[in-house]
Amino acid sequence: MTPSKRLQRIPPYLFAELERKIAAKRAAGVDVISLGIGDPDRPTPALIVEAGQEALADPSTHRYPTNRGRQELRVAVADYYMRRFDVTLDPDTEVIPAIGAKEAIFNLNLAFLDPSDVALAADPGYPVYTAGPLLVGAEAIVMPLVPELGFVPDLDAIGAELAGKAKLMYLNYPNNPTAATAPEGFFERVVAFAHEHQILVVHDNSYSEITFDGYRAPSFLATPGAKDVGIEVYSLSKGYNMTGWRCAALVGNAQALEAYWRLKTNIDSGLFEAIQLAGVAALSADADAEVESMRLLYERRRDLVCDALRKIGVAVTKPRATIYVWAPVPKGFASSIDFCEHVLERAAVVVSPGGAYGPSGEGWFRISLTTPEERLEEAIERLGALA
Ligand SMILES: *Cc1c(COP(=O)(O)O)cnc(C)c1O
Repeated sequence: MTPSKRLQRIPPYLFAELERKIAAKRAAGVDVISLGIGDPDRPTPALIVEAGQEALADPSTHRYPTNRGRQELRVAVADYYMRRFDVTLDPDTEVIPAIGAKEAIFNLNLAFLDPSDVALAADPGYPVYTAGPLLVGAEAIVMPLVPELGFVPDLDAIGAELAGKAKLMYLNYPNNPTAATAPEGFFERVVAFAHEHQILVVHDNSYSEITFDGYRAPSFLATPGAKDVGIEVYSLSKGYNMTGWRCAALVGNAQALEAYWRLKTNIDSGLFEAIQLAGVAALSADADAEVESMRLLYERRRDLVCDALRKIGVAVTKPRATIYVWAPVPKGFASSIDFCEHVLERAAVVVSPGGAYGPSGEGWFRISLTTPEERLEEAIERLGALA
C-alpha cells in the first residue's frame, strides 16, 4: 500500500519529535503545561449552546442540508457583516456556509488550481495555505512575513513572472502565528495587485473579534474593490469558542462562491443545519457581550505573558490581536525547535517552534493564550526560573 504522490509531497510533521517528548514526559508523571495549541479553553457561550440544543431538537434540521445553506444563516452573516464591518453582502449569492475555515481553504484549492498552477501563501502561515496547493498537485510559493514590514508580504518583491502565474493568494489578518494586524493601506495594495495580476485573494478572517487596546480589525471586504478580486473566510471557531462545532462562512465574490458551491456538491453534503442555527445565535447582537468578555480575558493573559517574557529578556512586542504571542527565540539556540525542546526539558512547558509555520518563522516561537490563568501563571513562573 503506497500513499499517493500528492500525500508524499507534504513535508514531515515538524512537531513529531516534540510531541514524542511531551508524551514521554507525561507518561513519566511530569506535569507538562501546554501553551502550544490555539484552541480556546473557555466553553461556547450558553446562548449559542442553547440555540444549538433547540435546533437539534427540531426535526427540520435532521435531513441533508443544502450546500447553499439555510436562509437564516446566510441572512445572519450578511446582517453581521453590515453591522460589524459595514460590508454589504447579498445573502443569496455572496454567502455560503463552510464546515470550518479549514474545509473552505482546502477545497478552494480544488476549485481553483490545476496541476502546476501557483498559489501564493504567507510564510509563516496557517499550514493549510501551503499543504492545500500541494495536495491538489499545484505549487505553493511562500511570501515571507518579516517584522521590518509589520509581518505583511512585500508585494513588490513577488515579481511579474510569478505574479502572472499565481491564481490564488492566501492572507490572514489578524494573523496566526505572528499576531500582526493589517497595517493602514495594506489591503488597498493587495486589491490593486490582485486586479493587475488576476489573482483571487482568499482572506482568512479567523481573528477579527479578538482584538485589544480598543483596536477593531476590519474585514478585507471593506476595502474598495475587494469583492471583485476576493473572498473572505469568516470562522466562528476562535471568536466564539466554537472550534469543535465546525462553523464558518465563505463570503464575497459571487463567481468564486459559485465555483466553491459546485465543487462541494461533489464532496460533502453541507453543514449540519442545527449548527448553522447555533451560528445564527453567535452572530446576533445578543452575543456581543460574550465576545467582549473574551477580548478582556485574552488581553489580561497577553499582558501577563508579555510582561513575564520581557522580565526574562525576551524582546516581545505586545500584540493588538489574536490568541497568540509571537516572540523571538533568545540568543544561543540553533533553531526554534531547539529552544522549544530546551523549554520542555527544563520547564515542562510547551511552546510552538516558529519554524513549524514556514521557513520565515525560524528564530521565533509562539505562545497560545488559551490556557486558564492559574496554569498560565505557573508556566510563566517556570519560564522565569530558566533565565
Ligand atoms: C484556527 C485557524 C483556522 C481554523 O478555523 P476552523 O474554522 O476551525 O477550521 C483557520 N485559519 C487560521 C489562521 C486559524 O488560526
